[in-house]
Amino acid sequence: MKKIPSVIDTHAHLDEFPDPREVIREAKEGGVLAIVAVGQDISSNQKTLEIAEQNPGFVFPAVGYHPWRLNPENDDETLAHIDNNLSHCIALGEVGLDYKAKTKKKVQKAIFLKLLAIAKKHDKPMILHCRYSHETVFRMVKEAALRKAVFHWYSGPLELIPLIAAAGYYMSATPALLYNPYHEKAINAVPLSNLLLETDTPVQYRELATRPVHVQVTLAEVARVRGITQEEIAEQTTRNARACFDLEGFS
Ligand SMILES: [Zn+2]
Repeated sequence: MKKIPSVIDTHAHLDEFPDPREVIREAKEGGVLAIVAVGQDISSNQKTLEIAEQNPGFVFPAVGYHPWRLNPENDDETLAHIDNNLSHCIALGEVGLDYKAKTKKKVQKAIFLKLLAIAKKHDKPMILHCRYSHETVFRMVKEAALRKAVFHWYSGPLELIPLIAAAGYYMSATPALLYNPYHEKAINAVPLSNLLLETDTPVQYRELATRPVHVQVTLAEVARVRGITQEEIAEQTTRNARACFDLEGFS
């Protein structure tokens, strides 16, 4: 029997599954070594922390405030909750700027700056959502001298990729590689040393409703796009994920 390559899903919304136990079990059996579970607001962060607590050494939590979930009434409480919980998380996310979202750019930027300050204070990587905002987000994290960051589901400008890589930041690939020529082009341009795999589960990619085990689909697609074996991609991206999120030192 062919051995299944070992991979890490670096971006999953486990809190969106009514009962995540089944998909976690399936992931373990499907060669997934670890899952980075991201949060979007207080209740999502809380659920994410609980799921991580129930799955030590396998589900690693990140707490965040997604640009789609911004609500001025909740800002202070959400930021305080992130600040209070970040020390036992592996990253701050999902956060970022979404210039197609309804919240004004200026308002989004102000929150993002506060989140950036919290990430800096705890020296944690940020997991970034960017839409029509890659240059701005990159400039802001670079100016803040944030040590580590992930530009998730990279679909930004191709010319930004070498700059993101030179700053030591990471970019991640999703199952959108199955059908999206732009994502394919971008992922083909990311240096292997800066590449991560993810699902953004439970996102539906055309007929594929993803679960964390589908990070294997991402792996197969990256191998196809790059013309390198799945084993080689799995080994390198797993090493990258461990380095990015300091998984070795995390307990
Ligand atoms: Zn996401």
